[in-house]
Amino acid sequence: MTEEILPNLYRIEIPLPRNPLKFLNSYVIKNPDRNLIIDTGWNQEECMKAMQAGLKEIGIDLRKTDFFITHFHVDHMGLVPDLATDASKIFLNQPDADRFMAGIFWEESARFARLNGFPEDDLQAVLHGHPARRFRSDGRITFDIVKDRDTISVGDYAFTCVQTPGHSKGHMCLYEVRKKVFVAGDHILSDITPTIQSWSDEWNPLKEYLASLDKVYKLDIELVLPGHRSIIRDCKGRIQELKDHHQKRLDEIILILRNGSMNGFQVASQMSWDVIYDSWDLFPVSQKWFAAGEALAHLKYLEEEGIVKREIRDQTILFSLRVNT
Ligand SMILES: [Zn+2]
Repeated sequence: MTEEILPNLYRIEIPLPRNPLKFLNSYVIKNPDRNLIIDTGWNQEECMKAMQAGLKEIGIDLRKTDFFITHFHVDHMGLVPDLATDASKIFLNQPDADRFMAGIFWEESARFARLNGFPEDDLQAVLHGHPARRFRSDGRITFDIVKDRDTISVGDYAFTCVQTPGHSKGHMCLYEVRKKVFVAGDHILSDITPTIQSWSDEWNPLKEYLASLDKVYKLDIELVLPGHRSIIRDCKGRIQELKDHHQKRLDEIILILRNGSMNGFQVASQMSWDVIYDSWDLFPVSQKWFAAGEALAHLKYLEEEGIVKREIRDQTILFSLRVNT
């Protein structure tokens, strides 16, 4: 499905089969000199077919096309190596480019998951089935690194890069100030909450995410173009809902920890999740992975706020409330 949202700015719906996200929004700006494609879909046949059909309908010549990738996740950049030509620029932020290039991510994450009580059988299943492994492209990519406040002009559109770390470490949005249009990637989504996960102790993703929401709140925006689901008109209202959501999550974890110290996996198993499964044991391992990552991001936040503390017992991190909380 392809639609023209604004003059020369199109949305191509790229299906993500058997995934709760349902589809990815690829935005295309058509311009006689050079076109720009923002985000692409997995490296999978269904995605490529939808992309090629959309580009044909719009009349895009890939030899005159550059790419902007909001963040390194495979649903956004999986198709880039197959679509890009030698003349294409591929814009990506530095932290995500580093993460993409470093092949050690899974080892690190697995070590961190074990430390936080993730059961070994489940862990092995996750490592083999995760879409980031199955649908990534092995093609080599040279990136054009973009930084906060850099500008990218395409035809009538003058975009400013707005860095919004949280969903990924270097997540980057595009803001067209005169048109009040904001290309949000996975920073702000409409009917689903962007996942904020922690798989290392090197940063505090939830803290950065909340700061990024505040940063975008200050901008004058009439139209948000998100990476998934439907477009958003009430940007400030949606940001408030997302902030409320995370506050509720933090409150819930504090309540759970009133029962005593536990590891991150145990905390995740006691949180309420908006899923169809009746009990934690019925969650597919991929959902357990996602839930544990979310729980750990919130625990890290509470720890840095001085509300939660950790101790290591039998090679597992146990979290508990500081006294007087
Ligand atoms: Zn995404």
